Amino acid sequence: MSPHNLIDPFGRKVHYLRLSVTDRCDFRCRYCMAEDMTFLPRSQVLSLEEMTTIARVFRSLGGDKLRVTGGEPLIRRDVLHLFQNLGKLGFADLSLTTNGSRLAELAHPLVAAGVHRVNISLDSLHPERFRDITRTGDLRSVLAGIEAAQRAGFRRVKLNTVIMRHFNLDELVPLTAFALDNGLDISFIEEMPLGEIDSHKRRDEFVSSAELREHLSSVFFLTPIDESSGGPARYWAVQGHANRVGFISPHSHNFCASCNRVRVSAEGRILLCLGNEHSADLRAVLRNAPADQQDSALAEAFVEALKLKPERHHFNLDEAPQILRFMNATGG
Ligand code: SAM
Ligand code: SF4
Repeated sequence: MSPHNLIDPFGRKVHYLRLSVTDRCDFRCRYCMAEDMTFLPRSQVLSLEEMTTIARVFRSLGGDKLRVTGGEPLIRRDVLHLFQNLGKLGFADLSLTTNGSRLAELAHPLVAAGVHRVNISLDSLHPERFRDITRTGDLRSVLAGIEAAQRAGFRRVKLNTVIMRHFNLDELVPLTAFALDNGLDISFIEEMPLGEIDSHKRRDEFVSSAELREHLSSVFFLTPIDESSGGPARYWAVQGHANRVGFISPHSHNFCASCNRVRVSAEGRILLCLGNEHSADLRAVLRNAPADQQDSALAEAFVEALKLKPERHHFNLDEAPQILRFMNATGG
């Protein structure tokens, strides 16, 4: 099958897969999860071998970017083994999104396995507030993880931050300064209405990327970088610093026209759009096909699934969430 098969009905070439390796997490971030979560029974979660097969087939269809995410990917047992296998598949860009809690011990082995880039979530530099936002997280272990990542030799280490008006808006400048002073990029993500949460009203906490940029412009000299990463983030250069500040704005800047990605959830559903329910069951394909036909059956399922990719997402903070999946189930 040729790489050109990974084109959706709107002519978008899909070459980027985000693979969720678990829906579980050691944190319970307020915007991501409810405090009391029910996770998937283990039998429904793909095995590490099944995940490797999915990545290998995606690669054979022309995919060249793979990001491992979750839940918290680094709490999955034997996850290093998975990375070692993924590292052999020849992806031009193999990356990871993590909350950083286990990076202090895993950063070096991950680089050795062939992981190129890492994104680490960080929403506060105050230990108590960090604990409050994540409900269970320990800031010290995350800061140690960030440090280890910097030493380990990734091509790029980036911070991801969700700003909520009444939780951490006052840390916009300190978090940005922390990133820039430590040689890190930082992206601010607008909170998305994924899953029903009880912690806060998303509408009350929403701060648009434009507002964040205006705030930051009073402290830093920002210049838009005229380059598309092929992804949803738009980047600004900061005078006097080598690193960039990015904004991911699913509400205020619709990026669907250039969407180049699909997601596979931990239970093996291929999700064609973060903001829509369109999906197909790759686990059933994998588990029902005879061993020697798994790859071809999966390749066909990928190509068929792409036909379901919707044109765009529609997020509305004033309505009850349309998407009942939490972000941890989707794979962020
Ligand atoms: N556990 C890892 C982490 O926190 O980086 C990876 C998975 S997490 C779901 C991926 C990213 O999604 C994180 O940067 C997190 O801040 C972000 N995220 C989670 N829920 C979100 C939501 N409702 N809106 C916007 N971003 C969200
Ligand atoms: Fe866990 Fe990441 Fe969700 Fe926080 S954002 S609860 S760290 S999956």
